[in-house]
Amino acid sequence: MTIDDLFRRLSRSSFRQRFHLGNAEYQYCLKKGEVQIRQHAAEFIKARLAPAIPANDGKQTPMRGHPVFIAQHATATCCRGCLSKWHNIPPLQPMTEDQQAWVVEVLLHWIHQEMQRPQPAEKQRKTSSKAKPDQNQQLDLL
Ligand SMILES: [Zn+2]
Repeated sequence: MTIDDLFRRLSRSSFRQRFHLGNAEYQYCLKKGEVQIRQHAAEFIKARLAPAIPANDGKQTPMRGHPVFIAQHATATCCRGCLSKWHNIPPLQPMTEDQQAWVVEVLLHWIHQEMQRPQPAEKQRKTSSKAKPDQNQQLDLL
């Protein structure tokens, strides 16, 4: 399977197509740059997906907080079940270096596509005295 084949299949999934970078994740990518984002992706995959039986498999990928997490949902690389179904990566055994490298390529390809889109609008935050600038905390997972 090539990256193009995969993205053609993903384009037919309305669920996968729902995912896009938000303003915060878009800015984060701009700030960090491709080399760092790639490094984060490799680290997440190694820690959260590569073990034979990853912790909390099926629920280990948050829906927000890092551009790579969103990319994982969008590309069906969020858990070993999706990796098995979409990427023919067998479950219940450690992922090989090649399999991990494939996932990283897929994630970076998706993020690259997203970064060609116009920067998403900033969410309107309710002005409340309690509102805290929590963006940095959410993004500072590493
Ligand atoms: Zn999944």
